Amino acid sequence: MRDPDDSVRAAGNLYLDSAASEAADPDVIKAMLPYMLQEYANPSSVHAQGKAAAASLRKAKSEIAGHLGARVGEVIITSGGTESDNLAIKGIAMGMAGGDASQVSRTDIVISAIEHPAVRESAYWLERHFGFRVREAPVDAGARIDLSRLREMVGARTALVSVMLANNEVGTIQPIREVARIAHSCGAVMHTDAVQAAGLIPISMADLGVDAMSISGHKFGTPKGMGVLLLRSSVPYEALISGGGQERGIRSGTENVAAAVAMAVALRKSLGALESRNALLLDSAHALCEAVKRAIPGVILTGDQKHRLPGHVSMVFPGVSGEALLVELDVLGISCSSASACAAGKTEASPTLLAMGIDRVTAKSSLRMTFRTALSTTDIALIAWRLKDSVHALTV
Ligand code: PLP
Repeated sequence: MRDPDDSVRAAGNLYLDSAASEAADPDVIKAMLPYMLQEYANPSSVHAQGKAAAASLRKAKSEIAGHLGARVGEVIITSGGTESDNLAIKGIAMGMAGGDASQVSRTDIVISAIEHPAVRESAYWLERHFGFRVREAPVDAGARIDLSRLREMVGARTALVSVMLANNEVGTIQPIREVARIAHSCGAVMHTDAVQAAGLIPISMADLGVDAMSISGHKFGTPKGMGVLLLRSSVPYEALISGGGQERGIRSGTENVAAAVAMAVALRKSLGALESRNALLLDSAHALCEAVKRAIPGVILTGDQKHRLPGHVSMVFPGVSGEALLVELDVLGISCSSASACAAGKTEASPTLLAMGIDRVTAKSSLRMTFRTALSTTDIALIAWRLKDSVHALTV
């Protein structure tokens, strides 16, 4: 590989960690402000200002529902993806298990082997404290769920199936429609964690056939700490948060009208530009992969290369520590992540990569680069060059 020219060397820092968090969109912030400064009333209050706030909340929820193929009554505003996953897994499993005594007790929770900790740890918490049994459906080398093994695991005892729509670490998109069909064939409830997919690819709760879905706004333009749980009203549910009974009693607490507005605007904006932007992101990801392969022949791309999120490049560099690589690249002005950002700081190999059949040592050499705007030729040359330098420094 030729050395990059001076303009490439002089280029500034590159943020390649959009899957961890994105900048808030100024239009989103602008849209939120009136609901904190003027229309700040509590939507449960009976006076005119309260009614106005309730109407704004409903309008924002109606737009959110429209963007996600859901009904307005199914939208519950949460404090982010983690809360949304927790409410879904724990509340639905509890609701299902406490059903009609004449029915077989439903105490199995089936998840994929590559779920985010917000789902996985919620399921194991139920196993530890409430007698549920967690079963993990395996994935193939590209992180796609094994549908025939899933079929064997789901049965009359299954309360809930939860499989993520797109994986945060390797970008693989799952066949959720088929997974939902399997769950429903046994009377189980189907939840999907759509945190990485929302705002990036078109999503319809109705088309996917799921009963519950979790999303998080800071991945596509809201401030952090804002999420949504979509939950069908027919799903048995045991509330985890006690209080004033807001949000159908599922999430008590004064509703965050500004967060609902932020979600609506961020979804509108990100989905509006989707087709043209995603074509560019796919091109950028492809060009980046090719440049990295040319610069470092030992690199192995991870995740399904066909069913994957746009703007998501994940790879392993056998023989190199992913954490060390991350630090090197950070010094050189490239911000990216090794395995899941939420798990950063831990030195264990990523359970996702292990589930894909990658050995423990190689799994620790992972790197993830994610972006929501297209990369220029200069950016790509710079990344490949800095990566080559860093890998070289860590292997000699
Ligand atoms: N689920 C997935 C797949 C994620 O990637 C994340 C965060 O990265 C979460 C859940 C948690 O979302 P939040 O950061 O909003 O709590």
